[in-house]
Formats: sequence, C-alpha cells, structure tokens
Amino acid sequence: MSKDWNTRTKLVHEGTRRSQYGEMAEAMFLTQGFVYPSAEAAAARFETLGEDEFIYARYGNPTTRMFEDRMAAIEGTEDAFACASGMAAIHGALAALVKGGDHIVAARQMFGSCLKVLEFLQTFGVAVTLVDGVKLEEWRAAMRPNTKVCFFESVSNPGLEVIDIAGVAKIAHEGGAVVLVDNAFASPVFSRAAELGADVIAYSATKHIDGGGRVLGGVVCGTRAFIRGPLETYVKHTGGAMSPFHAWVLLNGLQTLDLRVRAQAVNAAAVASSVAGHNKLARTIYPGLTTHPQHALAIEQMGAGGTMVAFEFNGGREAAFRFLNALEIIKISNNLGDARSIATHPATTTHSSMTPEKRLEVGVTEGLVRISLGIEDGADLIADIKAALEAV
Ligand SMILES: *Cc1c(COP(=O)(O)O)cnc(C)c1O
Repeated sequence: MSKDWNTRTKLVHEGTRRSQYGEMAEAMFLTQGFVYPSAEAAAARFETLGEDEFIYARYGNPTTRMFEDRMAAIEGTEDAFACASGMAAIHGALAALVKGGDHIVAARQMFGSCLKVLEFLQTFGVAVTLVDGVKLEEWRAAMRPNTKVCFFESVSNPGLEVIDIAGVAKIAHEGGAVVLVDNAFASPVFSRAAELGADVIAYSATKHIDGGGRVLGGVVCGTRAFIRGPLETYVKHTGGAMSPFHAWVLLNGLQTLDLRVRAQAVNAAAVASSVAGHNKLARTIYPGLTTHPQHALAIEQMGAGGTMVAFEFNGGREAAFRFLNALEIIKISNNLGDARSIATHPATTTHSSMTPEKRLEVGVTEGLVRISLGIEDGADLIADIKAALEAV
C-alpha cells in the first residue's frame, strides 16, 4: 500500500487483504488451520512460507496479518507481530532480546506486570538494574558491557512520568543495547518512538487500540529482521499468538483510533486545567500542564499531553475513595484508553500486589487516582469531577 498516505488514511485502509469475494469489511478468518490441495503443497508450504500463505493460526492468520500490517504502517516500522495480550508482547520482546548472563536496564516506574516479567527473567539468569527513568545519568551509570536492552514506558503507569526516548536511545546505542519502549500510554497516535530511536515498540492493544474495552491484545513493532526472526520464533512456539477474532475487533478499533484518542486528549487537557490547584488536591499530574516536570519533553515527544490525568489527594486513601464513589459518568475500573472515562485507585488495584514501600518508590501513594479520559462531552466530565471533588 501507499507509503505516502497519512496516518488517518492508513488507519482505515492499510493492510486490508480482500478475498475473491471482494468483501468491503475486513474478513474474520476464524480458522486455526488451512487446507492444502495436495501433500506436496503442504510440504512446500512448511518448507518455505510465501508472502500470503499461512499454515497455523499460532504462526499467523490472514486477519491477524492485516492487523500487523496496519500497525507497522502507522508506527513507521518495517513489521509487527500480534500477540495475545500486552504482556505477551512485552514478555515476547524481552525474551527474544536476552538470554541468561545478559543485563537489562529498566525504569523503576512501570506497570506491575512489566516489573513481574523482569523478576521472572532474573530467575533465568538475566540481571536487571532499575533506574529512575527520567534521569539520563542513571541510565548511563547502569550500563554494563553485557547490557542488551534498555526498557521503559514512554509515559509511565500510573505516575505519568515522561521518559526521553531519544536521550535513552543515545545511551543505549552507544553501549550496544536495544531500546524497548512500552508505548501503551502514549498510544500510536502520539507515538514518534521509532523516529526518536526506539528499536522495538510494544503496545497493549487492549487499551487505546481497542478503545471499547472488549478484547485483550498486544503487538510488537520493529525491524523485519527482528520481528520475523527471533520475536516470531519465540512467540509462535511459546503460544502467545493473537486470536483472529481479537485481530478483527482491533482492526475496527484502529479505524477510529485517531479520532478517539485526539478527542480523549482534548478532554484530558480540559479536565487537568480546570481542576489544577483545587484545594482537595495536593497535585494534578498531566504532561500537558506546564507544571509537569517533563512538560516540554512531552510536547516535543508526543505533540500533546495524552489521554491520562492523575490526581494526588491531600486526604490519602479516604479522600480518593470518597471521590471515586461520588463519580457518576466516570466508571471505577482498571482499564484505560477506553471511549468511556475510567477512574482507578492504583494502590489498591493495579499495584496492590506490591509492598507499600515498593509502591512509594514508584510513586503510587494512597491518595493517587488515575483517570483515563474518554470521548464523552468534556463539560459533562468536568462537572462530574468537580461534583465528586466537592464530596471529598
Ligand atoms: C495494560 C498495560 C500492559 C499490559 O497489557 P495487557 O493487554 O493487559 O496484557 C502493559 N503495559 C502497560 C503500560 C499497560 O498499561
């Protein structure tokens, strides 16, 4: 397809494969396997797989391939591989990049399951150093001769720290390491990760890419050599493939991704600026606010502040719970990137398996509430939040 197309055109059309029926919508090939015209044809296909050929859905499927091609096109990478979930993508990428005896440098402020995967890798003899991701000098100091990967969330969950992709990439590349970015919070709409030097970019497609909170999915984007080499080999043999049904849902999600995410970011900016300085809040955290410590970087790296806002309540857990319980439009849940606005208390949900000390280290206090803004009317969302703040 055309390399000259802009993102919104690619989101609608890129990667579409039509069968002999010429169907308009992407077909859902809900099949695990494929029928060969002869034993020789089966043998030939197992010997060398052609461009538009498939043998088993754990290895690839036409619907899944459409999703992969569309993702690679919008991310600006040569190829992509679809995985069963965001964690299957992150785990697959890390496992394909390191072996026992290697070293990973990773940002400390990360999604709980990402930190868990790093713990598992340590039991297989991989060394891990956690650093304060916003401090480039810490990345530099942590590099070792056997460092193979620098890994971080470009916008961290849930503290919304923004990490300098180009800055970390320079340090990593000088040390011969690969940069792996978990870009779930930035979303593909605000991603310039490939251009800024990230080598491998992983998404939880469960979040903004679905946008309707329906299915789990993940995707790893990178060079063709990496994606169709070590990454595909690892994921296809260990069982982390995406379901064709989920790929079909996510292809539909991609069509409206840009419209949704931009509307969500407008709502996030409006909410953040209308409640900043409220007397119930110790802090309003939003990369789009000039008070955010990495505001300039966020604008340079993403062109916007993103779809997520975090509040730190003066009154700790009690105030946070009163606020959550008083919300009407905004739902209490733990997904994000949905068309519906969602509020989360990370300390007692997404980050509850960590010890209180570990939580504090990664900025998850008892008074922290994370809000993923949806596409509802902005004035309604602000009114809902202001009323709930009054209830605290
Ligand atoms: C949700 C999330 C994941 C995991 O994605 P799943 O699809 O739930 O497996 C990984 N990283 C970040 C930053 C996330 O928000």
